[in-house]
Amino acid sequence: MLRYCICFGMLLWPALVQAQDMARIKKNIDTLCSPAMHGRGYVNKGDLVAASFIGEQFRQMGLKSFGTTFLQYFPLDINTFPKKVKLQIDKQTLTPGKDYIVNPVSAKGKGSGKIVYLDTLIFTQEQARQKFLQTDFRKNILVYQSKHQNKLLELPGEYLNKMHEARALIELHPEKLTASLSNKQQSHPAFEMVSKTLPSNASKAKFRLDATLISNYQSQNVIGYISGKTRPDSFIVVSAHYDHLGRMGNKTYFPGANDNASGTSMLLELAHYYSLPENQPEYSMAFIAFGAEEAGLIGSRYYTQHPLFPLAEIKFMINLDLVGTGDDGITVVNSVALPREFNLLTQINQEKGYVSKVNKRANAPNSDHYFFVSKGVKAVFIYTLGGIKAYHDVYDRPETLPLTKYTQLFGLLTDFIRVL
Ligand SMILES: [Zn+2]
Repeated sequence: MLRYCICFGMLLWPALVQAQDMARIKKNIDTLCSPAMHGRGYVNKGDLVAASFIGEQFRQMGLKSFGTTFLQYFPLDINTFPKKVKLQIDKQTLTPGKDYIVNPVSAKGKGSGKIVYLDTLIFTQEQARQKFLQTDFRKNILVYQSKHQNKLLELPGEYLNKMHEARALIELHPEKLTASLSNKQQSHPAFEMVSKTLPSNASKAKFRLDATLISNYQSQNVIGYISGKTRPDSFIVVSAHYDHLGRMGNKTYFPGANDNASGTSMLLELAHYYSLPENQPEYSMAFIAFGAEEAGLIGSRYYTQHPLFPLAEIKFMINLDLVGTGDDGITVVNSVALPREFNLLTQINQEKGYVSKVNKRANAPNSDHYFFVSKGVKAVFIYTLGGIKAYHDVYDRPETLPLTKYTQLFGLLTDFIRVL
């Protein structure tokens, strides 16, 4: 009977643990993507709601803080769209996020005007240029294609000034809308649409848009740690940015499930694992949920300028961003510079068969590892490949996040950390 019990328990236990973890992972992702977090941006202090949620999880796990709080505050300038965001084309009201987005540098504004298209002959014909400079655009909504943006920037400043006379600008993209953030605001309201959403015979546009540039907004990183058993003075850092693009008006927000509720919830899962006494790591482990990554790596840059323990004590750093897929493997940014660690990782993966491919990639300023690498810290940024196309848009939602190789990535990371 005893023998039977042990066997039964051994067979069933791992499956139960996994099922329970996936429920917790999904709950954390859902919470981070919920309307109450406002897209983890700066309208309604969504960033602080998310940071407080993470800090509370750290507290419940028994993580230590470096000061009296898990939060590290830093300032940033950020352009926000807090209230009304409305765009009508020929009396048809469009849906923000789906039919259009607000350009991140947009100013506030209200008005209507005749839709006119930028005459692309200005790039080649002197006559067209003269005509363009003499046209009065002040009652117009001026439409141009994103592919011409670089050419426009190459023209003398008077051409851009002329464009900015228009009541509003609409930039057309060939395929998808990709939102981003800006720490500046320009003088004119500006929207972005996919070409096929704007009917070719559209004649009039009407808009209303609230935009507020906030200077010195206070955002925060969230940092907790677990002391190592044998090397408490040396740290392995796991990081993930928790912020996303926030709100675009009072009706639309960007949930950011893959970017980066997926990485944040993996960070929480790892913190939970190492916080259990039986899993206490040999080295100390710091868990850093960075703020304001989407605003230009602001939180992680601030951290490297104001570290809570010496950067030289970081043995290795693993930054997780966009880890909610995995059908086509993973990519390890900055692994080109770290062949020993990359080989360790690929060896583990070959033995255990966690993911189909582990790609090498040189360093790039594309996530929060970047300023650490600049300061001489051994750091990689891991993202998963395949699955969904949603990126920086309203379709990056928890409902469609596949989490294909989530538990496998967890296994790969814990195995890797064990041999670092
Ligand atoms: Zn991201």
